[in-house]
Amino acid sequence: MSFESLGLVPALLRALADQGYAEPTPIQAGAIPVVLEGHDLLAAAQTGTGKTAAFSLPLLQRMSQGSQPGIRRPRALVLTPTRELAAQILDNVRVYGKHLRVSNTAIFGGVSMGPQIQTLRKGVDIVIATPGRLVDHMQQRTIDLSGVEVLVLDEADRMLDMGFLPSLKRIVSALPRQRQTLLFSATFAPEIKSLAMQFMHSPREVSVTPANSVATTVSHQVHPVDASRKRDLLLHVLSKESRRQTLVFSRTKHGADKLVRYLEQSGLRAAAIHGNKSQNARTRALSDFKNGRTTVLVATDIAARGIDIDQLPIVINFDLPMVAEDYVHRIGRTGRAGAEGVALSLVSHEESGLLRDIRKLLNQDIAISEVPGFELSSPLRLDAQAPRPKQGQRQPQQRPQRQGNSSHRPHGHAQQNNGGGDHAMGNRKRRPRGRRPAAKA
Ligand code: AMP
Repeated sequence: MSFESLGLVPALLRALADQGYAEPTPIQAGAIPVVLEGHDLLAAAQTGTGKTAAFSLPLLQRMSQGSQPGIRRPRALVLTPTRELAAQILDNVRVYGKHLRVSNTAIFGGVSMGPQIQTLRKGVDIVIATPGRLVDHMQQRTIDLSGVEVLVLDEADRMLDMGFLPSLKRIVSALPRQRQTLLFSATFAPEIKSLAMQFMHSPREVSVTPANSVATTVSHQVHPVDASRKRDLLLHVLSKESRRQTLVFSRTKHGADKLVRYLEQSGLRAAAIHGNKSQNARTRALSDFKNGRTTVLVATDIAARGIDIDQLPIVINFDLPMVAEDYVHRIGRTGRAGAEGVALSLVSHEESGLLRDIRKLLNQDIAISEVPGFELSSPLRLDAQAPRPKQGQRQPQQRPQRQGNSSHRPHGHAQQNNGGGDHAMGNRKRRPRGRRPAAKA
C-alpha cells in the first residue's frame, strides 16, 4: 500500500516524502480514500495511530481543490479537546500542507483573543479549535461558520468526557447542514454512536485496534511499593535512567507539582505539565523536555493526552490511572512506531484493583518484581476481590483484541465496513531500536 494509491495529489505526496513517511498507517489507508470520496467518516483510532494525518491529508486536498478566491470564511473546522492537541494538529497541517496554498490557524483558550480575531478577519481556510474558545468567538461574532464544508471532531470521546457536549451542539447548529463530518474517537462507545447519529449522515466506519499495538512493543513492569515510599523508589529508578528522558504520570495536578518539587530538591531537572499551568508554562515544559533541558516530565492524564513526544524509552506510572484505558493512552508515549519501550508502574497495595483491571484490559503478562530495600509491607491482591480506591471511576471497556501473532505491527490493523483489508505497518520512518531496554529493578 502506498500513499500514491490512496489518491493524494502530488503536492501532498511530496510533503509526505519530505517527512520520510514510507507508507500509510492502517487508519490512513482506511480513512483517506473514504474521505476523498466525500463520505462522512466514523473512525476508531487513538493517538499514535497516525490519525492526525488520516484527516489532515484529505482535508488539505479538498481545501486546495475547491478554493474560491475572495471568500474569507473558514471552509474546514477541526475541533479537538485540548490546547496542546490543537497546536499539534496545526503543526501537522502546516507540515503536510507546505506545498499547497491553504491557510490555517488554531484558536484555543489561555491566550488572548486579539491575535486570533485578527487572523480570522484576514481569512483562513482551516480553523483548528478547542470548543470553549470557539464558542467565545461565536458569541462575540468574530467567526463566521456558515461556509464550513468539512467538520472534524478529533478525540470526540475525550471531548464528551470533558463536558463539551453542549458546546459541540451549539457549534454544529451554526454549521451548514450540507457538509462532510469526520469523527475520530478511541472507541465506538454508545455515546459516540449517538453523537454520530445527531451530527452525521450515513457515515462509513473505519477502526484500528489499538490496545495490542502497545502490547507488542512495550514491556510492562510493576514494582510493588508502599505508597509512602513511592517517591524514594522513583528517585532510585530515575538515578539508574541517568540522562534518558522519562515521562512520569501522576493522577493529580497537585501530586504532579509535589513530585516535581521533590525531584528538583533531589538534584533532577524536572517539570510538570497539567491543566492548571498556563499555556505558556505548558509549552515551555514540553519544549524543555523535548530539547533535553529537563530530563523528567511529570504529567497528568489530560495534559499528556496526545502530546507528540517522540519515542521515549521509558514511561513511569507514579500512580496507576483510575480508568484502565488511560493506561493504554499513557504508555502510547513509548514503544511508538515499532520501537521498543518500557512501561513501569509503581503500585501500592491500595492500587491492586486498578492493576487487576489493567491486566485484564491488556490481556497479557506484566512482570511484577520488588526492588530490594522497597519491599511492600502488605502484598498486592490481584484476585477478583482486590481493593480499589473509592472514587467515581467508570469500568474499563474491553477493547477488541488483535488476532494473530505478528510482532511488529505497532498500530494494529484496520477494519473497514466496506471491505478494507488487513494491513501491516512495514517500512515506517522510525525504525525499531536494535535492543530492548534492560529491565529496571
Ligand atoms: P498521531 O496518531 O496523529 O498522533 O501520529 C503519531 C505519530 O506518527 C506522529 O508523530 C506522526 O508524525 C507519525 N506518523 C503519522 N503517519 C505516519 C506514517 N505514515 N509513517 C510514519 N510516521 C507517521
